[in-house]
Amino acid sequence: MKLDILVFTAHPDDAELACAGTLISHVEMGKKVGIVDLTRGELGTRGTPELRAAEAAEASKVMGIHIRENLGFRDGFFTEDELHKLEVVKMIRKYQPEVILANAIRDRHPDHGRASSLVSEASFVSGLRMVETRIDGNPQQPWRAKNIYHYIQSNFIMPDFIVDVSAAWEKKMLAIRCFKSQFYDPSSKEPSTFISSPDFMKMLESRGKELGHSIGASYGEGFTVERHLGVKDLFHLQ
Ligand SMILES: [Zn+2]
Repeated sequence: MKLDILVFTAHPDDAELACAGTLISHVEMGKKVGIVDLTRGELGTRGTPELRAAEAAEASKVMGIHIRENLGFRDGFFTEDELHKLEVVKMIRKYQPEVILANAIRDRHPDHGRASSLVSEASFVSGLRMVETRIDGNPQQPWRAKNIYHYIQSNFIMPDFIVDVSAAWEKKMLAIRCFKSQFYDPSSKEPSTFISSPDFMKMLESRGKELGHSIGASYGEGFTVERHLGVKDLFHLQ
């Protein structure tokens, strides 16, 4: 299946937290959207990889996305070597996205910045004819997405543009709440973490509000770019 938007994440739940509003909005506009999680998040303090996989599947249903895969890289320790890069290239060539969304360029969790540059480099390499890859034994064609944008995660980064996700915010929160093992649950007996505190949900809400407010919307999600964006019609900018 050819996708319009392919999202790469270091951990299952990165996409829900950082860009679910954008994904839901585009699904509702009729775009084909998919997520490739690089790891199973097996180093997470709460829950188990199996539980997180089930939670991710449930969240995918809420968002209405078309595919979700997991590359099974090692949480916390995956590297930016040739092997890992080629696995990402295979996904890009398989789904031929117009737009790639990748992790924040830097963040509190070191996996995020590493996944960000791994996916950036793989996106470039994917367009090189001389880099040969196969999937299920079949040779793949080179493919380069038109653009790659980086969502903003835990630490604030000044966005280069903001997507109005007001209409999708409620569904985004439903998708996030599918990750019951990870987030605030007063009845949970598991150790508390940075993201399981009630303050984290308040931060998400205020981040969305602040970014939305700055473009005259109720809620927004911010992204950074790797090159200048161009436009022919000024009225396509809001
Ligand atoms: Zn993460």
